[in-house]
Amino acid sequence: MTCDNCGLETPTKNAILQGTFGAYCSQCLRGTKRLSNTGYASYHRSREREDHQRDTIQPRDFNGKPNREFIHAYPEESQSMFTPKELKENE
Ligand SMILES: [Zn+2]
Repeated sequence: MTCDNCGLETPTKNAILQGTFGAYCSQCLRGTKRLSNTGYASYHRSREREDHQRDTIQPRDFNGKPNREFIHAYPEESQSMFTPKELKENE
């Protein structure tokens, strides 16, 4: 998998990092990863950010209610993020 934060091709885990659901490498999840601001890394990262703004669906809305769009887009992730009752209500 490719880390959604740093773009590294590495084993990743599904998680929420800084409010954004995605697949992240262990370094980003620990918050120890530091990328330089030069060259490809910076270019790649700014492109990732654009992609995220367009594609990211937040699991919950601003009221804390489950986001039906998210549940439909990420059914597997939703299983571990919401209670069965919440899933049922948002089918
Ligand atoms: Zn990473």
